[in-house]
Amino acid sequence: MSPTRNMLPFALPDVGEEEIAEVVDTLRSGWLTTGPKARRFEQAFAEFLGDASLETVAVNSATAGLHLALEAAGVAPGDEVITTTHTFTASAEVIRYLGANPVLVDIEEHSWCIDPREIEKHVTARTKAIIAVHFGGRSANMTAILDIARRHRLKVIEDAAHALPCTHRGAMIGTLESDATVFSFYANKTMTTGEGGMLVTRDAALAKRARTMRLHGIDRDAFARFNSTVPAWRYDIVAPGFKYNMTDIAAAIGLVQLRRVRDMQQRRADIARQFDAAFASMEGIVTPPQAQAGDVHSWHLYPILVPPRVDRDRFIDAMFAQGIGMSVHYIPLHQQSYWRASCRLDARDFPVSESMYQRTASLPIYTRMTDADVKRVIAAVRTVLDQQESR
Ligand SMILES: *Cc1c(COP(=O)(O)O)cnc(C)c1O
Repeated sequence: MSPTRNMLPFALPDVGEEEIAEVVDTLRSGWLTTGPKARRFEQAFAEFLGDASLETVAVNSATAGLHLALEAAGVAPGDEVITTTHTFTASAEVIRYLGANPVLVDIEEHSWCIDPREIEKHVTARTKAIIAVHFGGRSANMTAILDIARRHRLKVIEDAAHALPCTHRGAMIGTLESDATVFSFYANKTMTTGEGGMLVTRDAALAKRARTMRLHGIDRDAFARFNSTVPAWRYDIVAPGFKYNMTDIAAAIGLVQLRRVRDMQQRRADIARQFDAAFASMEGIVTPPQAQAGDVHSWHLYPILVPPRVDRDRFIDAMFAQGIGMSVHYIPLHQQSYWRASCRLDARDFPVSESMYQRTASLPIYTRMTDADVKRVIAAVRTVLDQQESR
């Protein structure tokens, strides 16, 4: 396996001159940490979701946002929180931060998202919350999940790290009836602030707690203190909080990226359509689930299943040799040594996730890919499958 010199990376952030200018403006402004731009970014984010009355709390990662959401929702030691095995470890680690126990469940075959029937089966007297994940940018079945939560009086947190923009039954993810929804602006996500995240909620008390815990448990944020018209040196610490605030440098990038995020989604959807069309004629390839009719898929990821007769690991090695960066989403948590041991997990309890994992490989899908890059990926898939099937 010798990668060619002209490697197509698996992912690349799409940051241009406008983002650079906005960051430079911040650097010259004298206000580097959480201040006016973080505030403007929060407001712009609520407007983007289509509801300026939403509470938005900018943080320095989605992991931080998920932690704050669970803490504010009252998750405590000994509680159980249900999420899926088929996700990034951040979705589950935040449950441990609070001394609670993750209960990992399988995904649905048709959506690759957390299976509501599995959630229902795992509800106990100790269950406190559900964390739903919109895998790859396709919405989970939030109607069923919110219904389960209502019947069992559970909190619902959406891990929307992949899901900007994405809709469920026509409603933007971030505007549903969940207790909180958390987006990620990590460098390879659908928009970036370098590192960053946004907690969105309709619950004013949850938002207030998250804002306090975002900055050391101080009862007011630094911006309010320094902009007060009266001397405002006095503050009170109401809890041992965290250091999760978003800087104005990051928010500057976010303000510009947010204006571009719809166009960027359209480009990724266009790439997904080209992949779908090409792979329809390649026998045995399974393409990722589409959104429900009428819904928006963010197309953060484009994972395929290789034909059953093809070895997935060899497929990825051969794609690499063709100069195509590849990844796997995900090595499920039940295959990770910490989670396997600490939750005593058995792959046989996750048949859908496990069989998907054995065959899955994610192709590059991002706005900086040209149509020639897309054709190159398709040609490489065809070449590699031909090679491997003629063995
Ligand atoms: C990226 C990601 C996260 C964490 O996002 P950060 O902003 O890097 O903390 C959480 N959940 C999922 C599913 C992710 O893909």
